[in-house]
Amino acid sequence: MFKALIVEKDEETGKTAAAVKEISEADLPRAEVTVAVEYSTVNYKDGLCIGPGGGLVRHYPHVPGIDFAGTVEESADDRYKPGDRVVLTGWRVGEAHWGGYAQKARVRADWLVPLPEGLDTRAAMAVGTAGLTAMLAVMALEDQGLEPGHGPVLVTGAAGGVGSVATAILAHLGHEVAAVTGRPEQEDYLKGLGASRIVPREDFAEPTRKPLESEQWSGCVDAVAGVMLGRVLKQMKYGSSVAAVGLAGGAAIEGALITPFILRGVNLLGIDSVMQPYQNRVRAWERIARDLPMDKLEAMVRPATLEDLPGLGADILKGQVRGRVVVDLSA
Ligand code: NDP
Repeated sequence: MFKALIVEKDEETGKTAAAVKEISEADLPRAEVTVAVEYSTVNYKDGLCIGPGGGLVRHYPHVPGIDFAGTVEESADDRYKPGDRVVLTGWRVGEAHWGGYAQKARVRADWLVPLPEGLDTRAAMAVGTAGLTAMLAVMALEDQGLEPGHGPVLVTGAAGGVGSVATAILAHLGHEVAAVTGRPEQEDYLKGLGASRIVPREDFAEPTRKPLESEQWSGCVDAVAGVMLGRVLKQMKYGSSVAAVGLAGGAAIEGALITPFILRGVNLLGIDSVMQPYQNRVRAWERIARDLPMDKLEAMVRPATLEDLPGLGADILKGQVRGRVVVDLSA
């Protein structure tokens, strides 16, 4: 028997409740590889899945946890053998399939990536889905020609998970990073990650009817969307790109016009970590091991246990979590 966070739904009231319970291997879904989970994390989607699911959870009872890292225990697939250290992100694990909030998980071999040299399972989850997405966003901006020295790169939702890792990676690569936050008390934290300056969230709070604003940013990693992305697009430099990863501030791009795309050739790049092909995931994890300073990563970590998850799930949906929550499954 082992511990798991189980979310159950009362079919009569439609209400869900999450609690730590003991389950057995026979309860796990059928798939090729059984992993002893060492660490998982709390992402925005986990907040949704710990609660009523927000349309993400297909079947109850459910084990959330959209990412995890651990050691292979059993494998019916030649690519993995017992003792291999692996990381999993995406593929709707923790949504349609039981995820990482359990001391064991059973998943398809195709969904796993071997841990790259230089990363242990805890560091991999300090990065997690949010950090992988930040790396994919930086790589997408580089593919469009972004290089250090081009001018300030904006990161929105900077004190959150994606924003923290994006800030640290970009600064480490030599970019000047302008970090947008609604939490002024996080200034020291963000400067510690390498941000050159802090931009208050209020600067982007109101939509503008202006077709364009003065050119300021050579690139942007946006985790917020909503009114903020509408304003950011109008401030991008000619030919620059925005890598949009999330919608913490709203599902629409509000107040935006077509003008930044036509008159300034701005590119809006959508980044999704969920269905990333194997080679892309391997490449991104290798870049993370190389380009993310581990001392900065440690500053982002808030440790947690399975028992902490119901409260943390609610906090992340309110935008109140700083950096990355790392859940220790051995605790
Ligand atoms: P976090 O909650 O850790 O961070 C989001 C940050 O956005 C907050 O910390 C806050 O930053 C800011 N924020 C929150 N609410 C608002 C608001 N109403 N207006 C403006 N800013 C706001 O989440 P993550 O970083 O893990 O994820 C961010 C987004 O990216 C989510 O929408 C998530 O679903 C998505 N995502 C997408 C992935 C993909 O593959 N595309 C993968 C991972 C996440 P501050 O306090 O600094 O202002």
